[in-house]
Amino acid sequence: MRSERNERRTAAVVLAAGQGKRMESPIQKQFMLLGGRPMVYYSLKAFEDSEVDDVILVTGKDDVDYCAENIVRQFSLSKVRAVVPGGKERYHSVYEGLKAIERLYRNEMIPDTGLSVLIHDGARPFLNQRIINASVAGAQKYRACVVGMPVKDTIKLTDENGFCKETPDRRNLWMIQTPQAFEYKLVREAYDRMFSREEYQRGVTDDAMVVEKMTDTKVRIIQGDYRNIKLTTPEDMILARAFFQEEQSRLGRE
Ligand code: C5P
Repeated sequence: MRSERNERRTAAVVLAAGQGKRMESPIQKQFMLLGGRPMVYYSLKAFEDSEVDDVILVTGKDDVDYCAENIVRQFSLSKVRAVVPGGKERYHSVYEGLKAIERLYRNEMIPDTGLSVLIHDGARPFLNQRIINASVAGAQKYRACVVGMPVKDTIKLTDENGFCKETPDRRNLWMIQTPQAFEYKLVREAYDRMFSREEYQRGVTDDAMVVEKMTDTKVRIIQGDYRNIKLTTPEDMILARAFFQEEQSRLGRE
């Protein structure tokens, strides 16, 4: 047994089970190469170098063996305890990750409030240690927190005919990123509840929404990074390569 009562543990779920249709690429975006390595490697490596204890990688069912061999073993990512198949929607994949965490800690005596989980999109390779540290601390302090950045553009709500209906105050608008960090028990109960009725699943695009809708706990926003982008469309790859090159030359200068 690795742990004793009252110990705090943090697990991360890294999501790489999406199809990435908007990328218009034959290779799923999480496996496209950046600096010669598959995109998802970078966030796994960030967690490897962090205070996070254990990592679950969620991927497509046909990619489980590839990931275990060509990413986890190849790059010696020792904190990845399991590679598990995800599901149709992102929230299905998250649920598989949460269940894998339950299996991982089944025999450990961790108090309910002692286990935190960081849920991260594998398609966000520019995760950094500051964000991970803030997320771990935020989960412990607030029970639920997500990283985000103030929006730069004006955002409009439209009607069904494409006419502007409302312009929300920009000072209260945030672009939400990942990690999304929670006390495990809280987010697990929220997900269990969401899966109890199909109508609860409609329109769910992030984990904070599940906690907002299914519990009374308020989700805190903490500072992310404008570089912590999710690679979604082809032009995001141009940005990603520019960020990557700049980071490499900075490291070269240090
Ligand atoms: O599709 P979207 O860009 O919102 O995906 C965000 C993250 O969730 C990506 O890392 C993707 O691989 C993951 N995902 C998943 N399972 C799905 C859909 C998305 O793991 N069914």
